[in-house]
Amino acid sequence: MIRVGAVEDAVPDAVAPRLEAEFGLEVRQMAALSDPAYAFDARRAQYSSVEIMKRLLDAAPPGAGRVLGITGRDIFIPMLSFLFGQAQLGGRVALVSVARLRQEFYGIPGMTHRLQERAIKESLHELGHTFGLTHCPDARCAMSLSTNLQQVDTKDAVFCAACRGRLENSRLGAAEQ
Ligand SMILES: [Zn+2]
Ligand SMILES: [Zn+2]
Repeated sequence: MIRVGAVEDAVPDAVAPRLEAEFGLEVRQMAALSDPAYAFDARRAQYSSVEIMKRLLDAAPPGAGRVLGITGRDIFIPMLSFLFGQAQLGGRVALVSVARLRQEFYGIPGMTHRLQERAIKESLHELGHTFGLTHCPDARCAMSLSTNLQQVDTKDAVFCAACRGRLENSRLGAAEQ
């Protein structure tokens, strides 16, 4: 797990133990990367998710199975107006932006525990993609697609039984290779 720019400790500190529990993997917090000025798109006033993910891959320590970046910057890809996160399907790198997971973004007073809960859900979701999981039709499952905050809040911070089964198959398959 790597912070990209400034993100308060409360976010990775809440996310790391939940990832360890759900994926059964050791999570290490690496030194934060600098603010992603290189990824800034002045026309959109947002940050390129793809450019940040390239830096994350470069920053990944040897032996790290997956790299999850967490940024406070608002990220985009060209075809979407914004993203809560992005991942390489079946790849190594995932990125979550907490910019639009904050109540303050919508003019509502912030609550740390809600931000933490949302960051956990989106981190599970994006890392789930790196283990080959696709979007789940169950709106309560962490793998269901969220395009607004209400959908994030509808989800539970766990995978449904079907996705959990797929995850276990995917991890067993990887161990056999
Ligand atoms: Zn997704
Ligand atoms: Zn599911």
